[in-house]
Amino acid sequence: MTAPLTPDQLADVVAGVSDPEIEVGLRDLGVLRSVSRADGRVQVHLAPTRLACPAQGEIARRVRSALAEAAPDEDIDIVWERGAWQPTAVTANGRQALRDGGYRVAGSTPRCPYCGGDDVARAGSFGGAVCKVPFDCRGCGSPFDVIGTAGCHALLPYPTDRPGRSG
Ligand SMILES: [Zn+2]
Repeated sequence: MTAPLTPDQLADVVAGVSDPEIEVGLRDLGVLRSVSRADGRVQVHLAPTRLACPAQGEIARRVRSALAEAAPDEDIDIVWERGAWQPTAVTANGRQALRDGGYRVAGSTPRCPYCGGDDVARAGSFGGAVCKVPFDCRGCGSPFDVIGTAGCHALLPYPTDRPGRSG
């Protein structure tokens, strides 16, 4: 018999699960909040980046499946902490992976993930998913998506730290 995995070890398993739309681990994405034990059950606390996104169900399925493999004897509860996700919870690794994937995390001035330019324009209200907003870079012509804005206004006030611009 092997000892049951500690919450830290279980958290590492969950951290290895990636978002179905973006190849970023849930810890790097800031989605994984904590793993704890309560009444003999394992509780995985997750903060959804998007309200009402169908990806949430897929994330839960992936987390359960990863844990079922790593800790088959455990009863798993997935607890969604709505409103808990913050762009600041995305790790440096996560930001890099998002940039590599052509995404930009809300919470600062939208900047082109390809050339770093800030001469960007919203290309529409909604992207492919509920909380993705398409932008176009006028500098290099690349389209990219900003996640965690439209549809997530309830969680994420649009960035207020934009430098003021005259003209
Ligand atoms: Zn660009």
